[in-house]
Amino acid sequence: MSVTTETQNYLNYINGKWSESESSEQLKSTSPANPSELLGHVQASTKQDLEKAVEAAKAGQKKWKKQSGAERGNLLFKVADILEKNLDEVAETMTREMGKTLPEAKGETARGVAILRYYAGEGMRKDGDVIPSTDRSALMFSKRVPLGVVGVITPWNFPVAIPLWKMAPALIYGNAVILKPATEAAVTAAKVIECFDQAGLPEGVINFVTGKGSVIGQGLAEHKDVTAVTFTGSNATGNHIGQTVAARGGKYQLEMGGKNPLIVADDCDLDLAVDAAISGGLKSTGQKCTCSSRVIVQEGVYDQFKQKLLEKVSEINVGDGLEEQTWMGPCATKEQYETVQKYIEIGQKEGAELVYGGRLVQSDSKGYYIEPAVFDQVTSSMTIAQEEIFGPVLALMKVETIEEAIELANDVDFGLSASIFSKNINHILSFIDDIEAGLVRINSETAGVELQAPFGGMKASSSYSREQGEAAKEFFTTMKTVFLKG
Ligand code: NAD
Repeated sequence: MSVTTETQNYLNYINGKWSESESSEQLKSTSPANPSELLGHVQASTKQDLEKAVEAAKAGQKKWKKQSGAERGNLLFKVADILEKNLDEVAETMTREMGKTLPEAKGETARGVAILRYYAGEGMRKDGDVIPSTDRSALMFSKRVPLGVVGVITPWNFPVAIPLWKMAPALIYGNAVILKPATEAAVTAAKVIECFDQAGLPEGVINFVTGKGSVIGQGLAEHKDVTAVTFTGSNATGNHIGQTVAARGGKYQLEMGGKNPLIVADDCDLDLAVDAAISGGLKSTGQKCTCSSRVIVQEGVYDQFKQKLLEKVSEINVGDGLEEQTWMGPCATKEQYETVQKYIEIGQKEGAELVYGGRLVQSDSKGYYIEPAVFDQVTSSMTIAQEEIFGPVLALMKVETIEEAIELANDVDFGLSASIFSKNINHILSFIDDIEAGLVRINSETAGVELQAPFGGMKASSSYSREQGEAAKEFFTTMKTVFLKG
């Protein structure tokens, strides 16, 4: 892979070429494990750069949509092979850039390869239905067609998988793409774009423009020639983008925050529930939109669950994600590190009991390390039970019955993922029926997504559309109804 200098500096990728921004300014990317380590630079792009990308994408899309699905699919298979070949390098860059441990970064990159292959195959699947006409001499059918230019705005927490689960379906259905990644993980995203470049996608079909959200992200949301915008990130940004795109009549898709509950029923296998709370709540330093942040436990097993949980949490090794013994890496950014500290203070002030962790972990490199934190005595009105923290903080809540647990689980603005541990089929069926979440998981942690199944939330977590699997077709295409008579 071509890395321009030892610190990895990347240009924009517009119309099939790497090019410098008109601003001649760059944005820094540093490592959260060692903030004085400069990982690289990306371009601080301007609206003029974006304009060039939109023009290139418009022209590229006109030719791209004429290729057959199979031809487009073959190119995506090629991108997948190149990404697979570069998996170690991409994963290592991800770990250095945003802190997730190397095994998690490798898993995410492998997921990216699988996403590309899944959507490459989609190029050979049906794109319409025949519908009987009332006119016996006519043929009527629906046909999926591309939207045009799609703007892709992504967060830093899954810098490979999220861009790919948006770009791969956008491309296979015949759209051109402009990716604007989060600056905090833009070097990793650039490495994904290099794979598309090496695979030889036609000019203008895929474009990469880095820069401030308020300039490039906002520019994509406002641009009349960007037919659709797909966004994953925070609620504040997402809602603003949704309003901006809707105001000009564009199509948009928003995947946003979560405050995901894990319910522990008194009939469940407690060891499995403890492992799920830890893995689902603390892996990736709690920086997954699907991570468990509220653990709602029935009183019959509350003390036993808490004891087992604390024993295991105390074994967690916090450190640099590149080191083999590390189970949990640093917070991805300084801002996130400070946010987690702020919520730990708020939790204590509002009367929750911090029963484990939450202290800063000192290191020579001054990395953004923090111990996982476990709060006891949390009630639903507390800030830490309502707001997304996006950090390694578990809030334990006690309930008498499963009905009460489900009610509490639903008592938040969000509705992304939810899980229950129970062996009682009635509890499980009530949970499936009554929980307000897009991802409903039984005897399994809240974090966990399969690329071939629809993904998305309810309530404030999403704009109600779904990503991934076949569901992606709904967003990335529109439909023609054809009435054909000889
Ligand atoms: P963020 O909202 O700060 O940034 C997301 C993207 O939006 C970045 O590329 C950013 O540059 C851009 N942006 C910022 N301001 C903008 C503006 N005014 N106009 C247009 N674009 C703008 O989010 P983040 O901090 O990068 O990510 C963390 C958040 O993402 C969390 O809330 C998390 O729950 C959410 N998330 C959700 C999912 C999901 O699928 N539901 C998945 C991962 C992360």
